[in-house]
Amino acid sequence: MSNIPSEPEFEQAYKELVSTLEDSTLFQKNPEYRTALKVVSIPERIIQFRVVWEDDAGNLQVNRGYRVQFNSALGPYKGGLRFHPSVNLSILKFLGFEQTFKNALTGLNMGGGKGGADFDPKGKSDSEIRKFCSAFMERLCQHIGADTDVPAGDIGVGGREVGYMFGAYRRLRNQWEGVLTGKGLDWGGSLIRPEATGFGLVYYVEEMMKYAGKGSFAGKRVSISGSGNVAQYAALKCIELGATVVSLSDSQGCLIAEGDAHFTPEQIEEIATVKLARKPLTAFSGKSSFKYIEGARPWVHVGKVDVALPCATQNEVSKEEAQALVDNGTLFIAEGSNMGCTQDAIDVFEGVRKTKGSGSIWYAPGKASNCGGVAVSGLEMAQNSQRLSWTREEVDEKLKQIMRNAFDNGLKTAIEYVQSAEGELPSLVAGSNIAGFVKVVCAMKDQGDWWGTGAPVNGA
Ligand code: GLU
Repeated sequence: MSNIPSEPEFEQAYKELVSTLEDSTLFQKNPEYRTALKVVSIPERIIQFRVVWEDDAGNLQVNRGYRVQFNSALGPYKGGLRFHPSVNLSILKFLGFEQTFKNALTGLNMGGGKGGADFDPKGKSDSEIRKFCSAFMERLCQHIGADTDVPAGDIGVGGREVGYMFGAYRRLRNQWEGVLTGKGLDWGGSLIRPEATGFGLVYYVEEMMKYAGKGSFAGKRVSISGSGNVAQYAALKCIELGATVVSLSDSQGCLIAEGDAHFTPEQIEEIATVKLARKPLTAFSGKSSFKYIEGARPWVHVGKVDVALPCATQNEVSKEEAQALVDNGTLFIAEGSNMGCTQDAIDVFEGVRKTKGSGSIWYAPGKASNCGGVAVSGLEMAQNSQRLSWTREEVDEKLKQIMRNAFDNGLKTAIEYVQSAEGELPSLVAGSNIAGFVKVVCAMKDQGDWWGTGAPVNGA
């Protein structure tokens, strides 16, 4: 890797996947998969472009835009667009890599991709957002399409941005097609898509609870980080299922409920409007009933919780924070964010899982536990192809089933490929990584993307 620039986030995601493959019997059983790994870890194509637009003061502004088309063996490239000043190729390659395996775990026909720009939506007027989205799509539109590459939202890109980009695509290409997901409900969007990542995360954790024999969400204390779309709907679903949500956060700080205090659905809804206006959590009118800790994440401050759901961004749980969660008796940690935990944090959780049997913490990686968002994007694509809309109940039931399958698949694959001690919970991180990897590389082998003798075809 010496002739390419350092890509810390991508290297972290790559090493995380490879370490779990190496610790399993996968390469012993299928040595040819080492060749597959070399091929699958390089994106099929990367598109980089400049985005020039005019701000409200009439000044020229320029940003860097990207689309990483990582893998299309299972379907059109699929994955969100992130608008955030931190966006660079390392971050988008990590996200595209993770997305490829995540999308495989949904069981739907979607390849993996990710894109975005180093544009900061914070403080921008609606007209600036519209102008940026149009300028961005003007450059991207020739590289995407309903059967080629279907972007969606991610950090900094919600329904409004998807709308402006969809309109720009439609006008530029003279084509109304399902080229983006997360669209408005009246023009091709799917019911439950806004809720899907958060709801799916909670459905996944319900499966973990059932398998571990630890009841349901009813009566559990849940710590959530973030306050965007994923955090909001995860919180609302937890509350609906009888749990108590005791934290939320943003990049400026966190709100912690003390004593009997907790977030109500009405408060979450108010926070949603605060966030839509891209204001900090301190603008939430109910904040005085909570403790606000500036510049902090919730994990070391939240005290005893049963469930921790990182729903903000990558690397938002450090080794020390992981240890604090373990020390406070947390039973389940599942990522709503992509790569929410650092490798050191995962090592803490996995270490405890191995030594403490069924009473230990159980960690679920984002590529399994947060796949509900992209899964409902896949359902939106299916509805667009049919020119039909499914009911809320239909989509929700399909989402539940997809999350159950993603959990079962990770679990069974871990049991098959990873030796475990008596009473140990299977490693969901290893099982999900292996299951996603095998599905993608088998499809690639069938299609001649790589070759070699002896490797099973179609995962048989
Ligand atoms: N950005 C979301 C993710 O990380 C959703 C992607 C999509 O719907 O295409 O999975």
